[in-house]
This record gives sequence, C-alpha cells and structure tokens, in this order.
Amino acid sequence: MWTGDTYLEDLYKQAEAKRNFTARSESPEAKQARLKASLRRAAGEFELNKQDQPVRLESVQCQGYTRERIELSALPGLSFGAYVLIPDAATANTPGVIAVHGHGYGSRQISGLLEDGSADTGEADGYHHFAVQLVQKGLVVIAPDVSGFGERRLEADLAENPDAPNSCHRMSTQLLMLGKTLTGLRVTELLHTLDYFSGRQEVDPSRIGIVGFSGGSLLAFIVAAVDERILASVLIGFPNTFKDSIMSVRHCICNYVPDILKLGELPELIGLIAPRPLFLESGSNDPIFPVEGFKQAVKELKQLYAQAGVSENLQYDLFPGAHEVSGRNSFDWLHATLAKR
Ligand SMILES: [Zn+2]
Repeated sequence: MWTGDTYLEDLYKQAEAKRNFTARSESPEAKQARLKASLRRAAGEFELNKQDQPVRLESVQCQGYTRERIELSALPGLSFGAYVLIPDAATANTPGVIAVHGHGYGSRQISGLLEDGSADTGEADGYHHFAVQLVQKGLVVIAPDVSGFGERRLEADLAENPDAPNSCHRMSTQLLMLGKTLTGLRVTELLHTLDYFSGRQEVDPSRIGIVGFSGGSLLAFIVAAVDERILASVLIGFPNTFKDSIMSVRHCICNYVPDILKLGELPELIGLIAPRPLFLESGSNDPIFPVEGFKQAVKELKQLYAQAGVSENLQYDLFPGAHEVSGRNSFDWLHATLAKR
C-alpha cells in the first residue's frame, strides 16, 4: 500500500520533535543566536562586491516627493536598480523604510509606475503602489528590484518567451545545484541595500523599517531577523505556517529554502525579530497564505512577544481582502513606531 502522504507527515513531525529536543538544552538567547546564524547560512553564502559605486540614473519630481533611480551592486558583476522616494518635507535624519515587492514586474509596480516606466494612472493592482503610500506618510523609501523580476529577468527566459513573468525557476534551480538559493541571493542584495540606504543623508540610520509583501515578505523577515538595524517590520501576505501555506498550496519554487524546517516553523523564525516591533497583515480570503495559518502564526508570535515582555510590540491586521496589500493600519503604525524613537 502506498503511504507517501503519511510518510511526509511523519517526517514533518520528526523534524518538529528534533527541534524541540535541541531547544530544551539551550537558553532562549543561545537558541535565538543559533537560529539567526543558521537562517542566514541556510540561504547560501555569496561572495560580495566590496567596491560598489552607486550611480544615480535619474531624479524625477513627483507630487509631494522626488523619485530617484539608483544602481547598486551587491555581488561581483551583478547590478540592480532601486527607486528612492524622498518626501519633499524630508530633512536629514528622516525615518526610512525598505519596500520589498514580491512576484510581478518589480520595483516599478510598487512605485506608481507601469512596466514600461510610465506613470500608472489607472486603478492600482493588489500592490496598491505601497512604496508611494509610504513616502506619502513622510518616510524616505527605497524600493530595490528583486532579482528575477521585471528588468532583472534572465535573457535565457526572455529568449524563450518575451513575456516570461519571472526567472524564479531558472535562477532557483541553478543556484540550488550550487548549494545556494535565490532567497539567499535576494537577501544578500537587500542587506547591501540596507548598507547603502543607511548612508543616505536624508535617512536616520537608527530609524529604518522594512515592509514586504508576499515573496518580498519572505525576504523582509529574513533581513529583519538577521540584521538588528531594522527597527520595525511590516510583513504582508505571508505570515503563516509553512505547513498551511507553501507546504499545502503550490507556490513558486523561490519560496522553498532547503533545511529551513530543521531550524523552525515559520512563526518561530519570524519570532527572531522579537523584541523589535512587528506588524503582521493578511487578507482574510488570501488563497495562497490561508487565514488559519495566519491565525496560528499570530497566536504563536503573541506568546513569544509576551514571554519577551513586549506584547505591545506585536500588532496585526486581518483585513477583508485577498492576496494583496492593505496598509490600512500597518502603515500608520510603522510611521508612528519609527517617529517616536
Ligand atoms: Zn518566485
């Protein structure tokens, strides 16, 4: 009799039991330090470009803010673009936020632009131009292009299909063959983005937050978990359990990080952000990050923040909606959290 389903379930439970056994022999602090180091390593390590010389490609005055286009490079020979949105009212030492998009056509999609770079004056899609919403709150925003999307799709994919939605599959599979992951490459570029952004004269380096949606939230949570410079985090359309989301619903291969379940289930790993402020947001009808998994993540993270004595630093919003950005409460929360420091 074929019992593959039971077998996989048993493996999942065995991994959970092993994690619990390991955790019993160490202090909460030691466990957190171990998990942070392991999470960074699990994504695969990359040689860094130590001589990046950022280039400003353009500067456009928009309504209430300036939109700069910057080119950065975290890895040797690999550059990427990022929009920096600067409120007209910004002074030196304004709070900043890294805005991380997920699947789609890249930084333009969250910065109020169409794929061809022209202004998107139509009805906003599920991203709701969230980088623009954040700059309109008075925050300096940087929105980097995540590798594999938009202008960062591979030529090999575009040669096969000029409308290829992304290069996640080709990039992920080739990196996996080398013991690396696309998540690791993307996180490395985001950490470099943080280095650059912290040095901008408009930005207060002690007041930087991060907002990620969907696949961008996977990256945002890892960056926040491993780098204490992130003061506050908003994770949208992603907080869940692995079991209820990427292990139950078919997702893009770029969501899967080898060995990660040996470290922890998703709520526990998101909990590495504690005690720093964290906002969890999800649509009640999100079909790919289901509501039951979101509720479980909220429950576990509430316990974790309570144990750390900082219950007030965890907020959440289950808004009526699908797999999309709301920001109805989280963006004001982020602004207030970064402002009060
Ligand atoms: Zn993907």
